[in-house]
Amino acid sequence: MSRYLFEPTVPAVAIAGEPTLFPVRRIYCVGRNYAEHAREMGADPERTPPFFFAKPADTVVADGAVIPYPPRTHNLHHEVELIVALKRGGRKLAAATALECVYGYAVGCDYTRRDLQAEAKAAGKPWDAAKGFDHSASVSAIQPAARIGHPRRGRIYLAVNDQIRQQGDISQMIWGVAEVLAELSTLFELAAGDLVYTGTPAGVGSVSPGDRVTCGVDGVATISNTIGEPA
Ligand code: MN
Repeated sequence: MSRYLFEPTVPAVAIAGEPTLFPVRRIYCVGRNYAEHAREMGADPERTPPFFFAKPADTVVADGAVIPYPPRTHNLHHEVELIVALKRGGRKLAAATALECVYGYAVGCDYTRRDLQAEAKAAGKPWDAAKGFDHSASVSAIQPAARIGHPRRGRIYLAVNDQIRQQGDISQMIWGVAEVLAELSTLFELAAGDLVYTGTPAGVGSVSPGDRVTCGVDGVATISNTIGEPA
């Protein structure tokens, strides 16, 4: 008999080529980590550094899944991102050694209700409804760093129905992966199971029911999902 009132669900992500799943503890996201994207959102990347927000762990969506169009938005946006998966963590990590905490890398989308985000920004309200809604965090199978190393450059792209919408290079990140982990660990104690979405390049835009969204980081992974009818 379980010690729990009901069986807890453990959100988990596939590991490429392995039967084992990566259990998700927390999802952190970096905002405005590519200068061109900061500019397209009306911010000056020279004056405002990147920042963090979070999504619930159970918002993860796997490769191939249909993502129901979320309620109470008319402007669902795609944001392709390199994702870091941690095998351990800590506080106040040094940038020089932070990559030792990385289990592997994935690619996915930080789906955003852009209309609700704009309302929240204007009213000084939290971003949770704009960012942390159900099915808002697509994530590919994780490629272990033991297999692919720690990518420092490589094309990051997103296509909607085979038309390229976002394209950049992960070398354009304002804070690189080690720096992101060092910064983040001054605010939160990081731990095994944490996923970190490292920010999106320019070209964000809206998707509609029926659209097929394909994301990739060269040398890391790809993921494809279809946007479904409203939930
Ligand atoms: Mn994002």
